[in-house]
Amino acid sequence: MVSPEPANGARASTGAFARAGWLRLRFADAALEADFRRYHLAEFLPRMRKSLPVALALFLAFAMLDALSLPPLVRDGVLGLRLGGIVPVLALTWVALYVRSLREWLQWLVSASALASGLGIVGIIWVARVHAFGLPYEGIILATFFSYFLTGLRFVAASLCGWLVFLAYVAMELHVGLNGDTLLYNAFFLATANLIGCFGNHFLEQAVRQNFCSMVQMHKLAERDFVTGLLNRRAFSTRATGIWREALRDGRSIGIAMVDVDHFKHYNDHYGHAAGDVALQSVAHVIAEHARRPLDACARYGGEEFVVLWYDVDADHAMALAQRMCQAVQALGLPHVASPTAGVVSISVGLVCTAVHNAAQWDAALRAADQALYQAKQQGRNRVCAADPRTAAGG
Ligand code: GH3
Ligand code: MG
Ligand code: MG
Repeated sequence: MVSPEPANGARASTGAFARAGWLRLRFADAALEADFRRYHLAEFLPRMRKSLPVALALFLAFAMLDALSLPPLVRDGVLGLRLGGIVPVLALTWVALYVRSLREWLQWLVSASALASGLGIVGIIWVARVHAFGLPYEGIILATFFSYFLTGLRFVAASLCGWLVFLAYVAMELHVGLNGDTLLYNAFFLATANLIGCFGNHFLEQAVRQNFCSMVQMHKLAERDFVTGLLNRRAFSTRATGIWREALRDGRSIGIAMVDVDHFKHYNDHYGHAAGDVALQSVAHVIAEHARRPLDACARYGGEEFVVLWYDVDADHAMALAQRMCQAVQALGLPHVASPTAGVVSISVGLVCTAVHNAAQWDAALRAADQALYQAKQQGRNRVCAADPRTAAGG
């Protein structure tokens, strides 16, 4: 099972689920739909890898039956279609299931393969009809069920294949002039098989979509802080490790800001805890606005503390960003009459900017940012203090 990317998981808010449209088998949010398709593929790929060899073995078994029981004239044509057409198509499709670069085309490839197999069976029956041999047509029903339930095809592709084969079968029987009553019965049975396949496949895809929604929601709940909606500390740690590795590989610098709301205990005491939560949300919003690039990250680190990570910034740029963030919180103008610092809610920021040399540096960098935050508090709050980069480098 794959987990969707955190960014897209976050996008799949509760509102998005309400509009998710799993009944219509397409999520309204294009990014969510793309995530679902990757999830669906990861779910079904192992099943397809098992079911296709089964289909191949069954075709080969039928080929043996043909070889033993069909009259020579019919046998050559039927075996030619089975062994020269359907079996190679299925074998190639099975190989394609293992080729990574073909992943995004698999629905198309498997659809084409299912269609070719279905049409191949129609061809086999046609060969038999032309030689006035009464070969049962039920093989098409079996292939129809197979493509609805065992190929991993989503609803639209599976139904398209099923009904196209149905039309081809009816057209072939009309062409060879099958008795009207027999054709009516056969067509009725095959249409019924398609209807059952459509319903069953639809239910199946709905269930997979629902499952996917629950998984994305659980993922979101597990990585987001409930009050502010920012990443929680655990998710941040995972994210930061990835970003740190990227910076290490690309030889980039990283800025880390530890943020703490000033005199927040007084705020709670004066305005109440609920108002404190609202203030935290506003501060969190400002912080998130200042870490918007794809490789930036921010999180609620705990209590009224936040952490921001800026990718590929030098010391001056990081300082400018931190100061802008600090001023933006003050500019919110959230009254804080109990604050001896600013009269409004403010933050103190401990900043460190460091070139990334090794993985172990991360802890030292965080400690340095923490110490810088302590200095910012000592020096009067509502300000940014930068750590010595040598401390951050663990030196
Ligand atoms: P300083 O300027 O030195 O940081 O002072 P402070 O009062 O902000 O620091 P202190 O650590 O003494 O108090 C932090 C306060 O933050 C105490 C706690 O009630 C509040 N707090 C922590 N988490 C939450 C929260 O989720 N909601 C609310 N409303 N308050 C919180
Ligand atoms: Mg604190
Ligand atoms: Mg504080």
